[in-house]
Amino acid sequence: MSQTGTGPIPQGTEEPSYELWEPLDPDVAGVFRDVPAEDRAYRERAREFVQTEVRPVIAGIWDRAEYPLDLAKRLGELDLLRDGVDVPGFPEQSLLAASLTTMELARGDGSVATIVGVQGGLALRSVAWCGSEAQRERWLAPLARGTELGAFALTEPTHGSDSVSLETRAETRPGGFVLNGHKKWIGSGSVGQLAVVWARGDDGQVQGFLVPQDAPGYRATTIEGKVSLRAIWQAHIELDGVEVGEGARMPGANSFKDTARVLQATRLGVAWAALGQATAVYESAVHYARQRVQFGRPLAASQIVQARLAEMLSQLTTLQTLLMQLTRAEERGELSGPGASLGKFTATRTARDMARNARDLLGGNGILLENRVARHFADIEALHTYEGTETVQALIIGRDITGISAFA
Ligand SMILES: Cc1cc2nc3c(=O)[nH]c(=O)nc-3n(C[C@H](O)[C@H](O)[C@H](O)COP(=O)(O)OP(=O)(O)OC[C@H]3O[C@@H](n4cnc5c(N)ncnc54)[C@H](O)[C@@H]3O)c2cc1C
Repeated sequence: MSQTGTGPIPQGTEEPSYELWEPLDPDVAGVFRDVPAEDRAYRERAREFVQTEVRPVIAGIWDRAEYPLDLAKRLGELDLLRDGVDVPGFPEQSLLAASLTTMELARGDGSVATIVGVQGGLALRSVAWCGSEAQRERWLAPLARGTELGAFALTEPTHGSDSVSLETRAETRPGGFVLNGHKKWIGSGSVGQLAVVWARGDDGQVQGFLVPQDAPGYRATTIEGKVSLRAIWQAHIELDGVEVGEGARMPGANSFKDTARVLQATRLGVAWAALGQATAVYESAVHYARQRVQFGRPLAASQIVQARLAEMLSQLTTLQTLLMQLTRAEERGELSGPGASLGKFTATRTARDMARNARDLLGGNGILLENRVARHFADIEALHTYEGTETVQALIIGRDITGISAFA
């Protein structure tokens, strides 16, 4: 009950503040014990960034739904923005280093990890894998440094899970192309410099184009009113007769298979982000259970609370083990599409369940932004949906199990 207007708060009712951010580094199975030093260094840098630069400001930024462009730039300065993509002049960054970076960033905040997913995972990777020499020369370094922001524009208002059926057109004209269509949910699509636009060419195939965000006819509106990932902006984009030169078409993007190759590479990254969020809610739940006193003893002294924490640790350990194994398989070039789907499917489901449990364990404090868990509770919803919903991942796995496609 509120004490407002009732005079001084009686002694003994003043609530202590809770320390919920201290890393606990749960690693029961020793999953991270043998991580090579150079990969560990990326993880530590990401953690330091989170603790010193994200933690003090993120609840307010999230509440005000601001896009922290300064943090995006810092990610570039710290070489945390590349998602493991090779860029000339930059040190080698292994897949494991990129995965651990994503996990640590998401442990701090889901939007911050998503900034990396969009910039490095999708935009930079598309240019690196599908772009011409000239396109790579122009865009790779600025995108990796975060001095220019890129977007990956695939989803359309009427084509989400079936983005393979996209309707944006790229008509060939003398000297280039004219793009017409609509895109929805495009991260950094209204605040960046470049958009990687996927459109259907004259041959009916999906092709990739590098479109400057200030091109005439490119109109981006930031989507407002989100209850998830409020600290990164997505845009609704209208492409209204956008003219680009021949040099805008990526020569390595000739069908949806090329788009899917980029998407599959980032799918496991989303799973690692979910693991970061799962770690955050677990840590906060443990801290809170120790600090919160009810019925004259800490919540942690209750058998039921201990059982709940044990359940969460079990889920977390299982997820760590799975994702490490899948990442090792990918490093060996052995990870299949359904394998990546299994990682994302398991990770976002698990993190979502753990966030729900932790939110409840914090009682009313669990819905306050200042207490960390509510932000992750809301943010995990978007991860559960983007880059292929839970159901779409299940359909990919199911097709692999049965040999029968159940999509249509
Ligand atoms: C925060 C956020 C950021 C995003 N960022 C980007 C971005 O940067 N670039 C980009 O291109 N896109 C982006 N997306 C789009 C994202 O990839 C899509 O939202 C996602 O693919 C799902 O599409 P949809 O939202 O249209 O849902 P729908 O496809 O309409 O799905 C609605 C529901 O139907 C289910 N469903 C769909 N098909 C089937 C089926 N065959 N059988 C059974 N169930 C089915 C789904 O699982 C889901 O539960 C983003 C989305 C969000 C929310």
